[in-house]
Amino acid sequence: MTSQRPTLVLGTRNRKKGIELAELFEPLGLKVLTLADCDNPIEVREDGETFAANAALKAIGQARHLGAWVLGEDSGLKVDALGGAPGIYSARFSGPEATDLSNNRLLLEKLAATPIENRNAHYVCHMTLSDPQGEIRAEADGICRGRIIFEPRGSHGFGYDPLFEVVEYHKTFGQLGPSVKAAISHRSRAARRLIPQLIRLLDSGRWR
Ligand code: IMP
Repeated sequence: MTSQRPTLVLGTRNRKKGIELAELFEPLGLKVLTLADCDNPIEVREDGETFAANAALKAIGQARHLGAWVLGEDSGLKVDALGGAPGIYSARFSGPEATDLSNNRLLLEKLAATPIENRNAHYVCHMTLSDPQGEIRAEADGICRGRIIFEPRGSHGFGYDPLFEVVEYHKTFGQLGPSVKAAISHRSRAARRLIPQLIRLLDSGRWR
């Protein structure tokens, strides 16, 4: 039997990010797919200069190609002492073959001489929804403030989470785990701003 639910394709290849996104949008009654569920998704070149530009590139190109409603999400870490780096280059901070481990090592190296009071940082997330014709139908962003500690703690999450301490909790996202991240992360904050827009589109009957 085929599903009657409207479908949302998450335009990401990051598996852990995909899981976080799916958990945020499934409660809307959407059928949430990832690029791994799609035939021949395109490789989108993320050469925008802002999170918003990259989210739009991921959404629009993939939506037109797949003939589907696609959510483009672009996110990253901005560290005050590094002038906002790694920013849009967060995934590739330590080069084209970067891994979470090599990115975290480089971040610690660059901040080695920086005292805790100057290690403030924030995560940024921008989400853009494209319809199958490539028109942007919804957009939102979110941030989450914290600071970069001196050595990794915890194994939850991904990317910079073991180094990113949420000051109010005295714990990193690596230690806090998925339920706290779903409540206060940059991604969940962007999703909470996007959801009313998605509900309006679903109610209008234009998204089937
Ligand atoms: P994107 O997939 O091109 O948007 O790159 C996102 C990158 O930003 C990830 O590879 C991580 O390095 C970083 N990032 C974004 N969101 C998070 C998060 O929630 N936790 C840890 N790192 C994140």
